[in-house]
Amino acid sequence: MSGTRPRLATVWLDGCSGCHMSFLDMDERLFDIGARADLVYSPLVDVKEYPEQVDVCLVEGAVSSEDDLRRIRAIRERTRTLVSFGDCAVTTNVPGMRNPIGPVPLLRRAYVENVTDRPGVPDQVVPALLPKALPVHQVVKVDVFIPGCPPSADIIYDALNDLLEGRVPDTSRARFGR
Ligand code: SF4
Repeated sequence: MSGTRPRLATVWLDGCSGCHMSFLDMDERLFDIGARADLVYSPLVDVKEYPEQVDVCLVEGAVSSEDDLRRIRAIRERTRTLVSFGDCAVTTNVPGMRNPIGPVPLLRRAYVENVTDRPGVPDQVVPALLPKALPVHQVVKVDVFIPGCPPSADIIYDALNDLLEGRVPDTSRARFGR
């Protein structure tokens, strides 16, 4: 690990935040994690820029937009152990449901056909969609996979326990879809 304490990050790409809610469900065990690692980037803390030299990063969500793509590439460069965290990251899961439709009909349905007040596909602020939502490992190298929708707090804690000790976690108890 770099420095005296492991540097931990969590990232939210195209997911529902349920995996982060399950992370919070570790409850009092969050104090244990907080005592053993520095949370240097996360939607749970007020840090805007993904830092250098992150030891462990949990990535929730699929890679669905050009912004996701830019972010995950930078995150990979700055992270020692990248964890695909939850089914959306591992398989695309819910974000992948739009893949057979294609981005143009999808955006038209969401922003034009179903809108009565000023319909129109946004060309600013909303990041452009990729042709398909992609699992994280199709874009960058992933070191550890934790399936589940979401993974349980017990599975997250056990995995983090190993990762913060520098061990490869045994995620065989983790199951897709639950
Ligand atoms: Fe939400 Fe499930 Fe995707 Fe996690 S895996 S972001 S809980 S839909």
